[in-house]
Amino acid sequence: MKKIAFGLLILLPLSVLPALAASPIKPGISCTKLGQKRESGDKEFTCIKSGKKKVWSKGVVKKSGAASSSNSVPKSTNGSASETMHILGKDLRITPAAKLSKVEICKTTDQTPGGMSNGFPRPKELYRPAQDAKVLLIPLSFTDRPFRVTPINSNMVNSDLDLAKLALKYIEERFEELSAGRFRVKVELLPQDQWWNLDFPDSLRGGWGAWENMDELVRISNEKKPQFQFNDYDAYMFIASNYVGAYNAQANFKIAVKNSKTGFANIALMSGGLTQSSLYVHELFHSLFGLEDLYLSPDFGGPSVTISDYGTPAIWDIMSDNIPSLLNWSRFLMGWLRDTEVRCISDQSASTHYLTSFGNSAEPKLTLINLADGVTLAAEVRDNGNEKGLLIYTIDTYIQAGQGPIKTFNKLLSKGMKRSIYGWDISVLDADKDGVLFDVAKTDVDKYVAPTRKDTNVGSRPESPIPLTGGDLIRKSNSTAEISWNPSKYESYRIFVTGISDFQKVYFETGIVDSNANPLVVEIKGLVCGVDLRVMTYFFTKKGGQGESRTEEKILGRSQC
Ligand SMILES: [Zn+2]
Repeated sequence: MKKIAFGLLILLPLSVLPALAASPIKPGISCTKLGQKRESGDKEFTCIKSGKKKVWSKGVVKKSGAASSSNSVPKSTNGSASETMHILGKDLRITPAAKLSKVEICKTTDQTPGGMSNGFPRPKELYRPAQDAKVLLIPLSFTDRPFRVTPINSNMVNSDLDLAKLALKYIEERFEELSAGRFRVKVELLPQDQWWNLDFPDSLRGGWGAWENMDELVRISNEKKPQFQFNDYDAYMFIASNYVGAYNAQANFKIAVKNSKTGFANIALMSGGLTQSSLYVHELFHSLFGLEDLYLSPDFGGPSVTISDYGTPAIWDIMSDNIPSLLNWSRFLMGWLRDTEVRCISDQSASTHYLTSFGNSAEPKLTLINLADGVTLAAEVRDNGNEKGLLIYTIDTYIQAGQGPIKTFNKLLSKGMKRSIYGWDISVLDADKDGVLFDVAKTDVDKYVAPTRKDTNVGSRPESPIPLTGGDLIRKSNSTAEISWNPSKYESYRIFVTGISDFQKVYFETGIVDSNANPLVVEIKGLVCGVDLRVMTYFFTKKGGQGESRTEEKILGRSQC
């Protein structure tokens, strides 16, 4: 696991997720996106401005029929909605499917090694002909961290058991919504008399960046729970008590375990963070479908939820941030978007398309332009005030998970607007409340040129000019620790320590130190107990922090106070 962990980044930033309690919509509760509409109960709510805040409106009682089809979070399409055709969808300018390329050409192959994949074919271990899955939630109790069936104190509303029950419902509902009823997840909670009550203290690592927990879960299952069988569920999600502080969430598929007929299991972990509703779903997308992380991992600049004009798909996909939303590319990967709903372009000089947003019609949902082997330009329809707009993004499967394999142009293209990218002009001709009519023209201006790709070994980091081994981090006392490295070809370094959930809080700082010592052993002082810490080491090829650099992050688990 550790060897390939880099290619399979499986964690989510700590601070960016909405609480479970926020999932039912109520008037006055804060929302994220002005104009967004959500259904709850028999009402439809709109995200409106109230003073400086964005909150859900009083809500209006839903009208039946057409009204629900304009909803941004569609309901199941079992009913007549799936037969809807729109007037713009009958426009004579639309290029017939027969004049487009075969969809296989746009099923771009994933070019990065490792289990998680952002392309085709999908990992064969996750092939699931029936459009449903079963997930088992397994509470973990340690001697010093029990899984609580009553709130820890009178200030708390929910016990761990309450949160697990809420999560169960949330997960099922979110899969239903995000797939528009095309995929169902059944979640079960292990009966209380079968919970994993362990006879030792908490052995899980807290915080973002600690990858060791999957190994630990496998060790626990092999050594302590040999009678447990990993046979009947598509994924097993372990949940440990919701302690205050840095939590850790991880997931992967095809993890080797002893007690399984196949020898493998798809496993996810929520060690704390039990109120982080979207995180359960994010982790299950790793375990059930092998989807990649779309946010930036710490090595590549951190979570990066900032909305820049071209960047990680922050608000558009749950693999990038807290929003329970999905790119249609993600749905295509999971088989939730049918081949007939995807329009593929390879070298057509001009074509016209009408797309609707996911889930509310039988019309196409995604236009893909094959730029090169492994690289695709995509367009799909998203909410843009009263009308719809076009979200344009690139899928570059040469880029690994955690390094930005998908990047979105975050300003939606609305009626009359044009964007030129990689030798293609995309112009929006018209838009209505459900879809967008647009032209795609080949220009040969600023054409996509495949960058020279460095060979990367399985799971290895990009080649560094500073060869490095070591990194042992030993806590000596509540306030001190020692880190040792075996670096070469460097002339200066810097080491500093921050909290895991608060990067602004700096506990220790060496500043830039000129040195070429090997081994390099540094005493770390000024630490505190009860807080998980992050030790950052920077090496530079030149003195004074100049030249090329290499960054390493290590996690120092909390000591008990
Ligand atoms: Zn993840």
